[in-house]
Amino acid sequence: MVKTRMTKQRKTILNVLKNTTSHPTADWIYEQVKKEIPNVSLGTIYRNLNLLAEMGKITVINYANDQSHYDGNTDTHYHFRCKNCQRVYDLHLELFEKEINDIVEKNTDYKVSEHRLEFYGICPNCQS
Ligand code: ZN
Ligand code: MN
Repeated sequence: MVKTRMTKQRKTILNVLKNTTSHPTADWIYEQVKKEIPNVSLGTIYRNLNLLAEMGKITVINYANDQSHYDGNTDTHYHFRCKNCQRVYDLHLELFEKEINDIVEKNTDYKVSEHRLEFYGICPNCQS
C-alpha cells in the first residue's frame, strides 16, 4: 500500500465512485469529475484511479477485451457480469471470503491472502 495525500482531484474521483454502484469505466468517471473540476484531463483520471487502487481505496475490475471498471466499495463482495449488456452487478451472497480461503488452505499447502471469483451470465433485465 502506498501512502499518498488526498488531493482535491483524488477526493472528487473517490466521491464519484462511492456514490454509484454501476462499476463505471474511466471515461464515465471523467465526465462526472469534469462537472466539478472542468479542466481535469483523462490522463489525470487514469493516474489517480491507479493511485487510489494502490492505496486500497478502490478496486479495479478487469475483463478481457474491455476497459477496466472501478468500484468504490472495497468491502468483500462478488460481481456478476452480464454477457448481453456488459453491466457489472454486485452479488450479495451469504458466503464469506474467509470460508473460501479456508477451503483452499485445508485442501492444499498454500497460504491464501485473497481470492477473486467472477460470475458471468445474463442479468434479469436482459432475460425479459
Ligand atoms: Zn444484461
Ligand atoms: Mn462491486
